[in-house]
Amino acid sequence: MSAVQDYEAVIGLEVHCQLTTAAKVFSPEAAVYGSEPNTQVDPVSLGHPGTLPVLNERAVEYTILMGLATNCSIRPRSQFARKHYFYPDLPKGYQISQYEDPICFGGWLDIDTDEGVRRIGITRIHIEEDAGKSIHDLDPSRTLLDYNRCGVPLIEIVSEPDIRTPAEASQYLQRIRQTVRYLGICDGNMEEGSLRCDANISIRPTGSTDFGTKTEVKNMNSFRNVERALEYEISRQEGILRQGDQVVQETLLWDAEAMVTRSMRSKEEAHDYRYFPDPDLVPMVVTQETLETLRDRLPEMPEQRRARLVGELGLPAYDAAVLTEERPMADYFDDVVAALIETGAGVAEEIAKPVSNVLMTDVLRTLKERNLTVSEFPIDARRMAGLIVLRIDDRISSTGATTLYETMLENPKDAESLARELDLVQVSDEAALLPLVKTVIEKNPGQVDQYLAGKTGLLGFFIGQVMRQFSGAADPKVVRALLQRELAGMDEDGNA
Ligand code: ADP
Ligand code: MG
Repeated sequence: MSAVQDYEAVIGLEVHCQLTTAAKVFSPEAAVYGSEPNTQVDPVSLGHPGTLPVLNERAVEYTILMGLATNCSIRPRSQFARKHYFYPDLPKGYQISQYEDPICFGGWLDIDTDEGVRRIGITRIHIEEDAGKSIHDLDPSRTLLDYNRCGVPLIEIVSEPDIRTPAEASQYLQRIRQTVRYLGICDGNMEEGSLRCDANISIRPTGSTDFGTKTEVKNMNSFRNVERALEYEISRQEGILRQGDQVVQETLLWDAEAMVTRSMRSKEEAHDYRYFPDPDLVPMVVTQETLETLRDRLPEMPEQRRARLVGELGLPAYDAAVLTEERPMADYFDDVVAALIETGAGVAEEIAKPVSNVLMTDVLRTLKERNLTVSEFPIDARRMAGLIVLRIDDRISSTGATTLYETMLENPKDAESLARELDLVQVSDEAALLPLVKTVIEKNPGQVDQYLAGKTGLLGFFIGQVMRQFSGAADPKVVRALLQRELAGMDEDGNA
C-alpha cells in the first residue's frame, strides 16, 4: 500500500510600498498620487542627460523607521545600484535601487495563526525609485504613458521563505500594511498600487527540508487575491509533481477574473539587470545619532499597544485587537480614556471596558455606515468622554445613552447639555419621585391588593406606570426601591 504523498508550500513575499513623501526620491518634484498624467515630471525623473539625482532624506528616514519597526539591523553605510532594463515607462533605461547592501536587513515580523504566533523573517528592506505607468486599456491601438510615478520613493521588503500557507501570506501582508500605516510612511492602498506584492512559491514533500523550484506570481491587488493566487498555484504545482513532471521556474501573472495564473516569462527570458553601483550617488550614511533620533520617533506599535490594553487596562484580547487594528482608532481610544480620567470618572482599569464597548459597537458601526475615518468622526474624544461618564455614573439609561449618541452625531453640543435638553438625565431624587409613586399606588387599588396577597410580580407593572407617567427620565432603581418601601408599609386593606 502506498500512501498518497503530502506536500507543503514554501512562500516568500516581496512587498513594495510607495512612501508618502511630498517629493520624489531623487528630485524635488511632487510625488502626489492621482494627479493629471504627466504633470509631475522633471528632468531628473525623466532621465534627461546631464541631470543628477539628489537623495530625499525623508525617504531614508521612512525606510529606517520601517526597518526599526520590523526588527531589522540598519546598515551604517550602503550604496545605490543601477538595475538595467528597457521598458517605455523607464526613461533612464535603469532603475536606481539597492543590490548587495540594502539599508535594512535581518529583521522579522510576528503573525497570528491558528497554531499560535509565527515569526516570519525579513531578509532585507531597500530603497528604490518607482517606474512610470504604462496604460494599455484606454486607447484601443496604443499604449499611453504616465511618467508621474517615475522617481516616487519605494521600499521593497523581502521576506525569508518562512511562510507556509496562503492564509499566513495574507496575514503577513496585513501586518506589513498595518505597520506602514502606523508609521505613517505609506497609505497601504493595494487597489491604487501604493502597496504591491509579488509572491514566490514552491512546494515540497511534507517533512522535506529542501526547497522545490519556485514560481513568482505578480499582479495581485488585494489580500483576497494573494490568497487565491497562492491556493491556485499550490494545486497547480501539486498536479505537476503528482504526474511525475517538474515545476518550471517562471514569472506568472494572476488573472483575477479567470482565477488562474498565466505565464509572463520563463527563467530563460529572465532579465540580466547588470547591476552596478550608481556613480551619481554617494553612499548613504546613517549615523548612530540619526538612528537614535528615529528610534525615539517610533510610535507605540500595534503589538505593544495590544499588550498594554490587555495587561495594563484589563481589556479582553479581542477588544484590544480590534481597537489597535488602525492607529487613529487606537489613538482615539487612548484620548477618550485620558479625557475620562481627567474628569475624575475613575481609574483607567475601570474606564477602559465601558469606553471599549462604545467604540467597538456604536462608533465602528457609524464609521462603517457613513464611510468615515476616525478623524472625520463627529464626536471628538472630549465629548465622547462626556457621554460615557453619564452612563458610568448611571445618570442616563442605556436607551438614553443611545439616543444621546445619535443626537451628538448631528449636534456639536456637549453631552451634559444635550442630555438635559433631551430630558435624558435620570431623576434619582426620592423627593421628586415619591409623589408620583404614591399616586400610582392610589390609582391602582386592585393591583395593590393582588400584590399584597402575594403576587409580587406586579412590581414591574407599578414601575412601568411610574416610568411612563414621569415627565423626564426616572431612575428605575430608585423607583423600584420607593415602590417596594411604600407597598411594604400597607396593610391587606390597602391602607398606608
Ligand atoms: P530571486 O533571485 O529569484 O529574486 P530571491 O532569492 O531573491 O530570488 O528570493 C526572492 C523571494 O523568493 C524571497 O522572498 C524568498 O524568500 C523567496 N524564495 C526563495 N526561494 C524560494 C523557494 N524555493 N520557494 C519559495 N520562495 C522562495
Ligand atoms: Mg530577488
